[in-house]
Amino acid sequence: MITIIQVSPESLENVKQAMEKLIVQLNYEPSKPRIFLKPNIVDALAPKLAVDVDPIVCAGLILALKDKFDIEEFVIGENSGYFSEKPENFQTLIEKTGYKQMVENLKENYNVPISLVNLEYADLDEYAWKFPPYKLKLPSLLKTHSYINLPKMKTHGACMVTLGVKNQKGLLLLKDKKRFHLGFRDENNVYHSNLHECIFELGNLIKPELTICDATLALEGNGPTTIPGLTWVRKLNICIGGTDMMEVDNASCQIMGIPVDLVEHLPKINVSLAPGSLPLTCEEPFKRPVKLNIPFGNTYYHSSMWTCTGCQMTLTRMNRKISFTPELRKKLRQRNKKYDRIDFFVGRTEEENVPEEHGVLFFCGNCTKKIAQLFPDATHVSGCPPHYRDLTEIFVNL
Ligand code: SF4
Repeated sequence: MITIIQVSPESLENVKQAMEKLIVQLNYEPSKPRIFLKPNIVDALAPKLAVDVDPIVCAGLILALKDKFDIEEFVIGENSGYFSEKPENFQTLIEKTGYKQMVENLKENYNVPISLVNLEYADLDEYAWKFPPYKLKLPSLLKTHSYINLPKMKTHGACMVTLGVKNQKGLLLLKDKKRFHLGFRDENNVYHSNLHECIFELGNLIKPELTICDATLALEGNGPTTIPGLTWVRKLNICIGGTDMMEVDNASCQIMGIPVDLVEHLPKINVSLAPGSLPLTCEEPFKRPVKLNIPFGNTYYHSSMWTCTGCQMTLTRMNRKISFTPELRKKLRQRNKKYDRIDFFVGRTEEENVPEEHGVLFFCGNCTKKIAQLFPDATHVSGCPPHYRDLTEIFVNL
């Protein structure tokens, strides 16, 4: 059973009241006195850009839980794929998204026992896993605390949507995130998985007690983060909550006007509404991601599900940098006059992925190193991922 509630993120009190309503409608009670919340915080951006769960939604939920139950501790945890393992990057993430300030406010003004944790450095437990090496490490918080999953409603270039099941990828160590994208390999270098299978399996392995999808503002187009001209913000002012993560995701897809059949990591299941819920309707279907192998100007991007978040984010940052820098835009226009066609490859790439009619070849990241060596005239930018400034420099000056 799920419920859809109206939430206006302008006031913390309003969000708290909405969350109290959600908890009552779902008849939810934490099974443990300690709570672990996993909001989707993937990029160092302000809440108005609808990329990360709005910290006020997270804060309102915490206050509602604190008032209603006897909670000893709240932990907010995330392992963003946007940055490297460097702790200073995690600091940038929580400062720019407003999470650090939100936690300080709850501590100082509401006396909430709360901490913010970089999951890359959290204690881990080992789980049996479907693919080689048949084990996966995940935060111990999943066992010691009541786990609440807080996704953001967004469309996604590789996965069609990113909701509750996909948000669990943020529980992984960065090295395992890469393996989710590139595939788990055995000792003979044979791949046994793809991204969708891994996300689905993680959804079977780890089940939150409560999932609340933040759709106060939602993102449509080529998410999961802002790309000028390819993503747009939608104001829905709702949250969708439920104790079955798959059901919440199914309901969210219906609201977005996206058939579940198009979401490879998500099984189709029936949705039932709790008494008092807003109706489950789609006012206007979300714009879906466009395939990046459609040319963008004279550049053909070849990015498959075998591209991990590291390179995806590097590309996003490069495109943003070019969009917002007049001098780089000028260089790009000049460069575009030189070539009829550029083919840009990122992520695990095989020789058959390079079309016969290709133009100038550009390979990004260590995953493309071997294939780049087959084409002596190609440009290859190394790194795992490459730094977006290096990539930008080489790309606009090609
Ligand atoms: S090169 Fe890029 S796609 Fe490949 S593992 Fe590294 S970051 Fe991921």
